[in-house]
This record gives sequence, C-alpha cells and structure tokens, in this order.
Amino acid sequence: MNSSSRPLRARIHLEAIRQNYRLAKELAPSARALAVIKANAYGHGAVAVARTLADEADGFAVACVEEALELRESGIRGPILLLEGVFSPEEIALVDRAGLAMVVHGREQLAWVLSARPARPLDCWIKVDTGMHRVGFAPSDVAEVQSALAACPHLGELSAMTHFARADEPEHPYTRLQLATFARALEGQAIPRSLANSAGILAWPESHGDWTRPGIMLYGVSPLIGAASPAVTLRPAMTLESAIISIRDLAAGEPVGYGGRFVCDRPTRVGVAAIGYADGYPRHARDGTPIAVKGRLTRLIGRVSMDMITLDLTGMADARVGDPVELWGGMVSATDVALASDTIAYQLFTGLSRRVPLIHEDA
Ligand SMILES: *Cc1c(COP(=O)(O)O)cnc(C)c1O
Repeated sequence: MNSSSRPLRARIHLEAIRQNYRLAKELAPSARALAVIKANAYGHGAVAVARTLADEADGFAVACVEEALELRESGIRGPILLLEGVFSPEEIALVDRAGLAMVVHGREQLAWVLSARPARPLDCWIKVDTGMHRVGFAPSDVAEVQSALAACPHLGELSAMTHFARADEPEHPYTRLQLATFARALEGQAIPRSLANSAGILAWPESHGDWTRPGIMLYGVSPLIGAASPAVTLRPAMTLESAIISIRDLAAGEPVGYGGRFVCDRPTRVGVAAIGYADGYPRHARDGTPIAVKGRLTRLIGRVSMDMITLDLTGMADARVGDPVELWGGMVSATDVALASDTIAYQLFTGLSRRVPLIHEDA
C-alpha cells in the first residue's frame, strides 16, 4: 500500500539504518556482520533495507526461504543466511538454486543436507544449543555433526553459531556460561563462529567472533535493559506518524473512550489521532504513554480503539485538526511506548499492519 486516505504512515529513514549498521561494524571491528532483516526487516521493508545496505553489508540473515527469495528476486546478490534453516528436504533445491546459506539446527535437517544432491556446494551453519534451549545441537554432539558435514562431498563453507538468551542483561552471568559452553563445544575446530545479536555486539565484546548478527540495533533501538546502555548513539529508523482528526474540551469528571478508563481530573482538551490497534498501535498502552504532537510531548489518555486513540492536548491552545502526531520515532522512543504496553520495540515494529504505508526516505 503506497498511499492511503488516512494521515497515518511509517517514515523509514534509510540513512539511519546505514549509520546503525556502520556502528555495529565499528563496535566489532574484527568481525563481519550479517544484517538481520527477517520479518520484513522488523517491519521496515526488507527489500528497501537490503538495497540500502547492499554495497556495504557483509551479508543478510532472514528467517525462511521465502524471505530470502524475495531479496534475490529484487537483485540482492550477497550472502543470505536462513536463520532457521529449511523446514523440509524439498526446500534444499531452492536454497541451492538461490545460493543461500542455511542453519542446520537438528538431526532432521542434518539428514536432509547429507542426502541432498545440490548442483553446487551448500554453505551450512551448525547451530549449537548453549543454553537458549529452543533449537540447536547439544554441545557434546557438535564434534560428530561437524565431522559428518565435513565428510559430505557437497558441503560448501562450514560455520558455527549460537544464540544468547539473556545478553540484554549486561550484569547477568548466563551469557558468560553460554560463551564458555560454545568455546568448549568447538574446541580445536578452526571454523568461523557467530554468537552476537545486537545485545552481544553492544554489551559483550568477547562474543563478537567472526560474524555478528545485528537486528534491532539496525533499526535504532538498543535491546539492553536498564541503565547499562553503552555510550553509543543509535538513530531511530522509523517515525510512525499520524495526525489529529478531532479536538474537544471536556469538563472534570468526564470519561474518555471505551470503558471510561480515563476520567478527566480537570478541564481537559482531548485530541483524537488516526491510529489504533488495527494499525499495530498496542491496545495495552497505558494512560500516560508518551506521544508527541507538533513536536511537543504529551500523553495517551483512554483506551486505544481499533482506528483511533485519544490524547491530552490540555495547555496546547494552538492545537488544530491536522496537526502531526508522532507515535514513536525521534521524539518518542519506541522502547518507552513498549514499556508502557508491557512489550518490546521488536513487537511494535513487526506488528504494524498493512494499513500503515511505509515511506522510504533517503537523506
Ligand atoms: C533475530 C535474530 C538475531 C537478531 O537479534 P537482535 O536482538 O534483533 O539483534 C540474531 N540471531 C538470530 C539467530 C536471530 O534469530
């Protein structure tokens, strides 16, 4: 959807994504970096983001073969890693034809790779379960899996990876345990290693390895929890904006919206903005969730509706229908909106609905 009658849109700042990618590289200078653009680049538009990074990214990572093929069909030629590998043996033909790399995280996938008859060598990444406990080989099985793959005549490049469960908690010892487990599982094996997601890049230099996998930081959000955020500046890549479509003045004691969740505690000027939960704005956003109107910070009041929200314009005598409203972006941090809705910025970004046009802007 490229245009819409509603004033709602997500402006995507491509230069910010480029800067954030460069920052990921500067923080881990000895590693190459796979730009993680799964889930439509966390809602930012995978093809546009890939094209933006095509000249400088060492490669891309996506969740599945459909996401990779979309990139290939758009002319993206660099390495593309399938982070969950394939879901059936038939898919290996697509991987082969499109020249993709794939994670091998379990016995079934290993058997499919070994019995495949690809036209060219298959690049595989052995996934090691160092403590996330979703997918991946047990550390004690890694040597055997590695030799099985190494003996396979159609194996291309072999690498090893793992994924952190708690790297966003810079004080938590669990990441150190995962680092040690990974090192032990690969002892004596000279294959490229990849551990770090954005949190690893930002908070755990010892995790940088040969390849990093920055995701959320490319979009300008630090995943680190609490005050321990490093002194780096990520640039928000998305501005979600709409406009005021109605203004009314209510007396103290009047309720606003469904369920009367918010009751005016004083004479209150209430603005309505064209965005709601059907667009992906979180329905659980609490009263007080930050919002900016014409560059001034204010707050959500009342429950989020399907297509509208209500916000506090008290004291903004000059507010008018048509004034711009920022839901998140340069003024309102997506993390703060997420915190006020008991979720994370990842979910806000990936949860935008198709009703929200993405407007890609390059400075
Ligand atoms: C999504 C994903 C990443 C990126 O994580 P961020 O927290 O967004 O940086 C890295 N590695 C794997 C395996 C992933 O699935």
